[in-house]
Amino acid sequence: MYRKYREARWYSALANKKVRCYLCPRECVISDMQSGFCSVRKNVEGKLYSAAYGFPVALQIDPIEKKPFAEFMPGTKTFSIGTYGCNLNCFFCQNYHLSRGHYNEKQAGQYVSPESAAQLALKNECRSIAFTYNEPTIFAEYCIDTAREARKVGLASVLVTNGYITERAAQDLYPEIDAANIDMKGFSEEFYLSMTGTHLQPVLDAIKYLYKLGKHLEITNLLIPGKNDSDELIETFLDWTAKNLSAEVPIHFSAFHPDYKLHDVPHTPTETLHKIKEKAQSIGFSHIYLGNI
Ligand code: SF4
Repeated sequence: MYRKYREARWYSALANKKVRCYLCPRECVISDMQSGFCSVRKNVEGKLYSAAYGFPVALQIDPIEKKPFAEFMPGTKTFSIGTYGCNLNCFFCQNYHLSRGHYNEKQAGQYVSPESAAQLALKNECRSIAFTYNEPTIFAEYCIDTAREARKVGLASVLVTNGYITERAAQDLYPEIDAANIDMKGFSEEFYLSMTGTHLQPVLDAIKYLYKLGKHLEITNLLIPGKNDSDELIETFLDWTAKNLSAEVPIHFSAFHPDYKLHDVPHTPTETLHKIKEKAQSIGFSHIYLGNI
């Protein structure tokens, strides 16, 4: 018996009990009793359900700097929540045990309501709730309800996200949160397609929308040697950020370590990170942070 999951938002019913999910730009068409690419949105008799709603598989208290946020509520603790599933397929995933994980339908699981999550955060002296570890877009219904409960008790909500979301869903989710760190995987369509199985443009649209909303925004760029760390890609990324956002946006460049399907690529040399930081500063970026070094 399939356990009762929360009905999803952002889908439409199709013929023959199929549904189309439009939470992210994959827009999966899902047959009856099948799940979408992210593995946590399941069609049961023509209705789409979120298997992740209320079922976090990772709950932890972290310094907010660890997310990473360098300039949002520094020095405070955040109550981190993650589930299974992801809408990207990054060869270099550093959390693949969660992103490629699945819920076991035969186990009831520990339900954590949005109200309970907010109370747990308060009890643990956190100032915010972070939707993190795996991709929060795929459990956006839970993020929205939890962010609302968090706000009621004076807590902020933050997303650590890949930004791969449709405009319609972003318009529902992003206004509910206070800050986001968006992962820029690599500044080219070719990189997104070959290394993540998705596309760059929706991510750029999400970043611009979040910035336009006036939310606190930080961007993280994981540098993979020989894949996305060329001078040309980094310059194009910085140029786009300066023109479309601002050179005041905090940017994190972080070092890659071999993981998941990318074990034949070495760690990012520390010198590469310092060289990129100097380049960014030389063209006017003043909030540059280096990570994983
Ligand atoms: S959120 Fe999941 S089911 Fe929905 S379109 Fe994206 S990958 Fe497919």
